[in-house]
Amino acid sequence: MNKIYNVGVIGGGVSGVITALELAKNGVETVLFEQKNSVVNGPPFCHLHAGGNLYPDISDEQCRILMKQSIEMARLFPQSIDKRPTFISIPKTQKYDVNKIQSRLEMLVEYYKSLIDEDPENEILGAPEDYFKSFSKAEIKALAEKPEVKIPSTADEWMTNSLKFIDYEKLKTPVSIVQEYGWNLFRLAAQAQLALNKSENCLLKTNTEVKSIKDVRNQKVDYNWEIHTENDVFKVNYLVNSCGFKTGQFDESLHIKNERLIEFKAAYVSKWQPILGLIPELIFHGERGTPNGMVQLTPYSDDYYQIHGMTQNITLFKDGLIHAKKNEAQPKFKADINQKLDKGWDEKDIEQRTKSAITSVAHYLPDFASATVGGPPLFGAQQIPGDDATLRVGEVSFPYKSYARSEIVKASSALTVANQIIDKIQEEGIIPLLKKKSLNNFLLEAVSKNEIDEFSMELAIERGYPGALSKLVMNL
Ligand SMILES: Cc1cc2nc3c(=O)[nH]c(=O)nc-3n(C[C@H](O)[C@H](O)[C@H](O)COP(=O)(O)OP(=O)(O)OC[C@H]3O[C@@H](n4cnc5c(N)ncnc54)[C@H](O)[C@@H]3O)c2cc1C
Repeated sequence: MNKIYNVGVIGGGVSGVITALELAKNGVETVLFEQKNSVVNGPPFCHLHAGGNLYPDISDEQCRILMKQSIEMARLFPQSIDKRPTFISIPKTQKYDVNKIQSRLEMLVEYYKSLIDEDPENEILGAPEDYFKSFSKAEIKALAEKPEVKIPSTADEWMTNSLKFIDYEKLKTPVSIVQEYGWNLFRLAAQAQLALNKSENCLLKTNTEVKSIKDVRNQKVDYNWEIHTENDVFKVNYLVNSCGFKTGQFDESLHIKNERLIEFKAAYVSKWQPILGLIPELIFHGERGTPNGMVQLTPYSDDYYQIHGMTQNITLFKDGLIHAKKNEAQPKFKADINQKLDKGWDEKDIEQRTKSAITSVAHYLPDFASATVGGPPLFGAQQIPGDDATLRVGEVSFPYKSYARSEIVKASSALTVANQIIDKIQEEGIIPLLKKKSLNNFLLEAVSKNEIDEFSMELAIERGYPGALSKLVMNL
């Protein structure tokens, strides 16, 4: 392989693909390696955190960053955004203060207005005055009496549909409907892969595990890194490590010490009876890791629902959150978690955990007890840079010249990271200075909705999930 690429990106998760697509859009010769047979095939995502309202414990600053980054991602991947809102509530048993949640929502409205002032195209969450609506006990009682609406279009209608099922006596008031949308990973994966396949500047190497990297910056050659795969050696000037929870594997070979946590988590796929009116995503806050951790019900098409429950017997796992040991860059999970990551789940575990997840939802929606297992769990491991397990906004670090390590915690940070890497590559003179940044990516725009519909369905089925998970609920 004599060709020298400007940039080599290892890892085709959301971070790696967006970095590669943004480089390719700017004509930068790039090679992207993904060990699996399709991209964005690691830990799942389903929620566009446009305000951080699933995390009552994070700072206002993290909420603002999540909102800004989410808006940028939604502008880049509109075909993967499910424009239905989220119902946010605090059970009476929980410590969280409703007033604090309300004032944070008000802060977010002002921030959203400022983003629209900067660029009117940022108005993708609807009008700022409709970003959230809160409902008192009396309003809830009145809306609960109204008939459901097949496809709701106002906060009141979404609330009415939710109240047909929710045991609202268990909740503090007010409760809120917030414009935090769903985010379909199969559709994003499909659009990204189709765009990369069409790109002239990016070579996508799927089914290609990078075995090792060699630093040749101090040798008299006209490139900086060698990337070794099973059969080839690729020469690149700049190296991007986007290996997700495995970024440490290459840090270790470069003798870089780095503080990081990695966490294994899972969400469960269930199927319920058909209901008359669409419901929003439902959040019942709870302290993470306790038996009453947050419950999250995410509606999908064709009566499928995804469930997260932030307790040890549902989404979280014993020894699922681990810290890098001293002098270790890549923390290592125990055998049972590695077994799930590498070989999949046994049926008994799927049945047991999905049923626990259904029971946790039925605590707030008694009728949901009739739901059944709808498919295998969506699962994976993610990294959290540093030692703060509550951090939700990770970005990128540059431990060496010509080397970037992506450290995103939420998928929404991927574009910010791609832009920071591209700035650094220009700063190092590896590529000439580029024109002013634009949010548009012609490679993504060239992929049609039909192509995304078809390929995302194919990806969902090939990965063992119901094809319905690739469809948007709000497919209007
Ligand atoms: C249960 C769960 C739910 C989540 N929900 C949300 C959500 O709702 N919203 C949200 O924004 N985020 C969510 N996240 C977080 C989100 O999944 C991650 O932030 C995101 O996927 C990380 O992307 P990444 O590209 O950094 O890493 P990854 O997606 O892990 O990508 C890394 C890629 O590198 C590849 N790779 C690794 N080593 C090699 C090698 N040697 N050679 C070639 N390829 C290699 C891997 O196969 C993988 O495809 C959730 C995470 C979990 C676990």
